[in-house]
Amino acid sequence: MRILLVEDDALLGDGIRAGLKLAGYAVDWLRDGEQGYLALTTEPYAACVLDLGLPRRNGIHLLRDLRAHGNHTPVLILTARDTVADKIAGLDAGADDYLIKPFDLNELQARLRALLRRASHTGAACLHHRGVSLDPAARQVTLHDHAINLSGKEYALLHDFLSHPNAIRPRDELEQGLYAWGEETASNTIEVYIHHLRKKLGASFIETVRGLGYRLGHDT
Ligand code: CA
Repeated sequence: MRILLVEDDALLGDGIRAGLKLAGYAVDWLRDGEQGYLALTTEPYAACVLDLGLPRRNGIHLLRDLRAHGNHTPVLILTARDTVADKIAGLDAGADDYLIKPFDLNELQARLRALLRRASHTGAACLHHRGVSLDPAARQVTLHDHAINLSGKEYALLHDFLSHPNAIRPRDELEQGLYAWGEETASNTIEVYIHHLRKKLGASFIETVRGLGYRLGHDT
């Protein structure tokens, strides 16, 4: 899951990025509203964590413009402005949730999970498919109730598949969701991770749809 963080406070931004990375997200961090808007309109993000007081374009304007252009990326706003009027303005501008600074990183992560759950096509807290269960809160995967060990990227890829249970996922979409800017990628990494997932979860767990991409295997 790839997340965009737009925050101009260096210390806070660094802490949030580190925490979200540790939780397994691919995180891009930008420090002004103009760059944030450009990134949101050109890259596919699962969600955005958005500060309101930002240089070049403030968070409320960014959000209004984004929604006006039909972009529905889930947005959680961070704000030090704790007046009721500011909260209402943020929500009316199109935010899905908000947190008031200072906040607990664990709460930010729980709210992000809730946001992603609502945005996903399943809406369920735990994701299930053919004996495999994935619990995003615990970051745990089981196959027929036995714990399965997955690397960070394998986990992220499985999460992506389970969040789109009936969709064919093109290779480049899978890749874009897996890597933040500046992360090293080899040309065949998606194939390698899918190979690993098939070894761990069963050869038919992920199907290749020739010329189009991959999808979860379905019983025929
Ligand atoms: Ca700020």
